[in-house]
Amino acid sequence: MGENIFGFVGRDMAVDLGTANTLVYVRGRGIVLNEPSVVAINVKDGHPLAVGAEAKRMIGRTPSNIQAIRPLKDGVIADFEICEMMLRYFIRRVHPRRFSKPRMVICVPSGITGVEKRAVQEAAEYAGARKAYIVEEPMAAAIGAGLPIHEPTGNMVVDIGGGTTEVAVISLGGIVTSQSIRIGGDELDEAIISFVKKEYSLALGDRTAEEIKIALGSACELEEELHAEIRGRDLVSGLPKTIVTSTKDIRRAIEEPLAAIIDAVKITLDKTPPELSADIMTQGIVLTGGGALLHGLDVRLQAETSMPIVVAPDPLNCVALGSGMCLEEFEALQQVLSYSSSSR
Ligand code: ADP
Ligand code: MG
Repeated sequence: MGENIFGFVGRDMAVDLGTANTLVYVRGRGIVLNEPSVVAINVKDGHPLAVGAEAKRMIGRTPSNIQAIRPLKDGVIADFEICEMMLRYFIRRVHPRRFSKPRMVICVPSGITGVEKRAVQEAAEYAGARKAYIVEEPMAAAIGAGLPIHEPTGNMVVDIGGGTTEVAVISLGGIVTSQSIRIGGDELDEAIISFVKKEYSLALGDRTAEEIKIALGSACELEEELHAEIRGRDLVSGLPKTIVTSTKDIRRAIEEPLAAIIDAVKITLDKTPPELSADIMTQGIVLTGGGALLHGLDVRLQAETSMPIVVAPDPLNCVALGSGMCLEEFEALQQVLSYSSSSR
């Protein structure tokens, strides 16, 4: 490996293929790419028009001949061809030359099937990887959050992404118990859309709903509840309309999917062997993924589980950093790989 006259040729890379965002980590350089997992295609001929941030900007704004697609939306690969196209595009962007092929670690939602995992591996190899290894998302998240996963101690990680929430207890480098549900940040956005529709007869786009969630969303009562204007289309008149909503309203709106996420944590705790629960009681549950940034989620989870809760520093990057660390120490990767395939 290492530097040569061709630049980063041959540098191994790790890819966090998330339902909302894809990140690429290059060995020795860190995270070099961070883009939404979105592809805009021309419906007529199936050709991609834009990938990543540019494609995300098109969501909800496309004419009938363009479609903005999120190939991994619900934690399953909805459209394999588009997924492969996107992966290939991102890999080529950070590894433009093909003199020597990199080894690649790919992190996928743990809910995808064995066939889909194999297909992702093939796509990566087709896109220029010498060999592609699949790492389970909660494992990468735990490593990226700095948890001592190889120790004989219970480590609990909750990764809340766009389309999925993964909860896992890890000890001695292996997953002891885990739960993966297809509810994540997207469901909170959708809940905001239906709430605003029902309460105010106002139609919102996905992007606006996400912005509202980030600005006003919370998981527990705030010291000072805030009010804000939101804009959408009146369902009756069809005209633009502005309404005033509050953090309290939005909290009510997202309660149902949020409760489902909290339940997944409780169920996993229930299934955790007592020795490991005791470890978690002292170490705390670590939150990763973009959903970890929801205001007050730590306080709420602490109240509901009686466990200390820690939001990982840099939660959106944990999975990419964790899979990147596997690259930096390839031996660690092999251990994780063999453990994760035997523990399931
Ligand atoms: P994935 O791994 O599935 O690609 P990410 O870990 O990148 O997902 O997280 C994306 C999700 O996190 C989206 O649903 C996004 O709306 C949500 N998110 C990002 N920032 C915040 C925030 N500050 N508050 C609440 N949710 C957030
Ligand atoms: Mg993720």
